[in-house]
Amino acid sequence: YDSVARYDTLIHRRQTRSVRVGDIWIGSDHPVAVQSMINEDTLDIEGATAGIRRLHEVGCEIVRLTVPSLAHANAVKEIRQRLEDTYQPVPLVADVHHNGMKIALEVAQHVDKVRINPGLFVFDKPDPNRTEFSPEEVSAIGERIAETFEPLVQLLKQEDKALRIGVNHGSLAERMLFSYGDTPLGMVESAMEFIRICDRLDFHNIVVSMKASRAPVMMAAYRMMADRMDAEGFPYPLHLGVTEAGDGDYGRIKSTAGIAPLLAEGLGDTIRVSLTEAPEKEIPVCYSILQSLGLRKTMVEYVACPSCGRTLFNLEEVLHQVRNATAHLTGLDIAVMGCIVNGPGEMADADYGYVGKTPGTISLYRGRDEIRRVPEAEGVAALIALIKEDGRWVDP
Ligand code: SF4
Repeated sequence: YDSVARYDTLIHRRQTRSVRVGDIWIGSDHPVAVQSMINEDTLDIEGATAGIRRLHEVGCEIVRLTVPSLAHANAVKEIRQRLEDTYQPVPLVADVHHNGMKIALEVAQHVDKVRINPGLFVFDKPDPNRTEFSPEEVSAIGERIAETFEPLVQLLKQEDKALRIGVNHGSLAERMLFSYGDTPLGMVESAMEFIRICDRLDFHNIVVSMKASRAPVMMAAYRMMADRMDAEGFPYPLHLGVTEAGDGDYGRIKSTAGIAPLLAEGLGDTIRVSLTEAPEKEIPVCYSILQSLGLRKTMVEYVACPSCGRTLFNLEEVLHQVRNATAHLTGLDIAVMGCIVNGPGEMADADYGYVGKTPGTISLYRGRDEIRRVPEAEGVAALIALIKEDGRWVDP
């Protein structure tokens, strides 16, 4: 991760430890992993199993579920077994609270990663009259946190499982708020407290997240966290996300606005796009972000001009037809350009091009070479035929 790399066309990822979550590795040069969370009640074993499977089938590589009670922890055991019996093992993450350390110790045996929120390690009700914590109080709270947290860390270490230290801007502990305010620094200090406890216990299978519902806040927190971890010798991977991003176009854009700049700087080893929609809808957004930055290629890359007065055919309709016919051909770049004036140059390195030549005629390109001209009505079929001739077609 180097600011000079801003002028490079390649993304230079921050070098981190690799952390295993089931059969998925997070960090270092491993592909940026895609994750989400089911919204079924974990106690609904059938519903939760189906929800996990649905997510996994559309490409979600790591699935999280909430575990607020011992009954939920036992349900996770059954869910895991059911997945193994009827589908396949899926990397699972349990969300736990500090006051349920017994729950965490139980569920840690049935999942691949446990997520804790440092802000929820509070032992007393917030006192509205309090305005500060003395150094003695801070140190006493620190000791209680370490004591509470240690058995979980020991178990994860023994079982070679992972931990996510997941800080949320909206739920910082009171003493962090008094010391650092509602700031990215407060978020970083919250995570560092838990990282140091893990370090003392020689546990390093750690992933860190710094989520906030405002993109600039989360971006600042992730950058600061990466700098701090690298300076202090904790090269742990980052899980990126904007919380409570909402739904629809704006939810997608807001998530992308926060996640993509960090990925482009080389920060981030796993991502979640949190939408107020069915969780399966999050997965294509994650893959689109990763593909548009060149970090993963999981679908056809379509290069298409926006159309203008020179456009020689109904570009929107043809792009739609081309996409319908070829979307299953992972790994190809296909350009659809409205005219010959700018088309061939601007479709750059596409594997195939469909370019308006004259009214009623289109040209097909392989790379930069024009291969044939055909009547527009035969264009899409001719493109498919060309891909088949090249042996790059597979049936859907
Ligand atoms: Fe217009 Fe041709 Fe450029 Fe498309 S490629 S926007 S049709 S000039």
